[in-house]
Amino acid sequence: MKNLTPLINTSLSKELQALLYLLGYCSQQGSFKVYAVGGFVRDLLLGQENRDIDLVVEGSAAEFAKSLLKVMPGTLRSYERFGTATLTLTNGIVFDMVTARKEFYAAPGALPAVEQSTLKNDLFRRDFTINTMACALNPGEFGMFFDYFGGREDLERGLIRVLYKLSFVDDPLRIIRAIRFEQRFGFDIEADSLSLMNKAIRNRLWEKVSNERLYNEVRLVFREPKPLKVLTRFNELNLFKEIFPRLLFTPQVKERLQQLEYALAKFKPEAGSCNYTLLFLSALFYDLEERDINFLCHLMRLKRKERLALLSIRANVPSVLRQLKTETVGPASLYALFKELPEEGQLLTIALASEPRIREQVMYYREHLRGRKPFVTGKDLLEAGMKPGPVFNRILSKLHEAVLEGKVKNKEEELKLVSLLMKATGEQSAEK
Ligand code: ATP
Repeated sequence: MKNLTPLINTSLSKELQALLYLLGYCSQQGSFKVYAVGGFVRDLLLGQENRDIDLVVEGSAAEFAKSLLKVMPGTLRSYERFGTATLTLTNGIVFDMVTARKEFYAAPGALPAVEQSTLKNDLFRRDFTINTMACALNPGEFGMFFDYFGGREDLERGLIRVLYKLSFVDDPLRIIRAIRFEQRFGFDIEADSLSLMNKAIRNRLWEKVSNERLYNEVRLVFREPKPLKVLTRFNELNLFKEIFPRLLFTPQVKERLQQLEYALAKFKPEAGSCNYTLLFLSALFYDLEERDINFLCHLMRLKRKERLALLSIRANVPSVLRQLKTETVGPASLYALFKELPEEGQLLTIALASEPRIREQVMYYREHLRGRKPFVTGKDLLEAGMKPGPVFNRILSKLHEAVLEGKVKNKEEELKLVSLLMKATGEQSAEK
C-alpha cells in the first residue's frame, strides 16, 4: 500500500480525520513537513484509533506546535532543547511532536533524498519496526506511506523486532516496551530480538537507567488492557523479581490481579478518576508489610500522596471486606467505612469481594451515598447564631447521618432536626 488516505477515511472518526487534514493545512502554511509516525500509524494499520498522535516535523516541532495553537484550543508544552513539543487538545487528543533536523550536508541536486533521509534517520532511532512507519500529512502528499524497515510485514506477521543489534543496550527500557507490545497485541518477539533481549536481561542492563525512567516505563504496564499478562511474562523472563524486589509473584497475587481485571472490565471507572498504577500496586502489595511497601514506593519514585494512599488501602481494605462479609451495614456506617478510602481502594474492594452482596454495598455507597450532602450547611448554622466548635461539628455530622439514613428529605425537615439537635445539646450542656 502506497497511500493510507482510504484507511484514514474509513477507519478513523470524522473528528480525527478533520484534525489530520488541518495538521496538513497548517504545515503547508508554515512551510513545515509533517508526518504522523509511530504508534498512531501502527494502530491505523491495525484498524484502531489512537488519540495519541506522534508527529515528526521537519523544521521545528516547537514552532509548528505554536502555529497549531492558533487554530486548535489546547495546552502546549515545548522542550526546545530536545526539539519536542506536546499539544494536548481540550477534546483529549494529544500531539507529540519531535523535530527531525534537516541535514545540511551537500547532496547535489538530490533534495528529496536528503528530505527522506531526515525522516528515515528519525525513524531509525525508534524501538521496533512496527513503530517505524510514517504517513505524510502535507496536502500534496497526504496519506503517503513510508516503511523503511519492514514494519508493515512485521505487523502482518505479528513480530516485535528491534532495528539493530545494540538497540537494547542503547535503551534498556525497550525490554519493558517489547514485552508490553508483545502481550498487548498477542505478538511474538522475533527470535534474534528475543535472544538480544535475554542477553540484555542477563546483563542487568536496566541498571544503567535511572529508577525514575525505569518506573515511568513500568507504570505504562498498568494502563494496558491486560497488565497481568505482561507481569506474568516479566516473571517468565526473570524480570519480575528485579523490578519488584521483596514482592513474590505468587498464585494469590495473580488471582487478585485477575479479579481486578474482571472488575475493571465490568465497572469501568470514569475517565481520569482512577490512578491505574495505584490500583494495580494496591493489588500487588496487598500482603506486604508496611516497611516493604515503603521500600518499593521509594524505589519506584512514587509520590508521597500515592504512598500514603497505598498504605491506607493496605490498612483498610481487608478489614472493610471482613466487616461487609459478616454484617449488614446501614447507610451511615457504610459511608463512614468508605469516606476516607481512596478511589482505588474502593475499586479494589469491589474486585476482591467474595459475594455479590458486598460488591452491591460498595456500589450503593458510590452511587447513592458518596455525593449525598445535607442542604443545610455550616454557613446556615453560623447564621442561626451557633459558634464553631465540637457541638457545632457534632450537629453537622448528626444531620449528615440523618440525611444518609433518609430520615430527613428536604431543607425544611433538616432545619427542624437541627433545631431539635440544638435544643438537645443545649439541655445536655445545661445538665453538665
Ligand atoms: P502506545 O500505544 O502505548 O501509546 P506508542 O508506540 O504510541 O504506544 P509511546 O510511548 O507513545 O508509544 O511512544 C511513541 C513512539 O515513540 C513509539 O511509537 C516509538 O516509535 C517511539 N519510542 C518510544 N519510546 C521509545 C524508546 N524507548 N526507544 C525508541 N523509540 C521509542
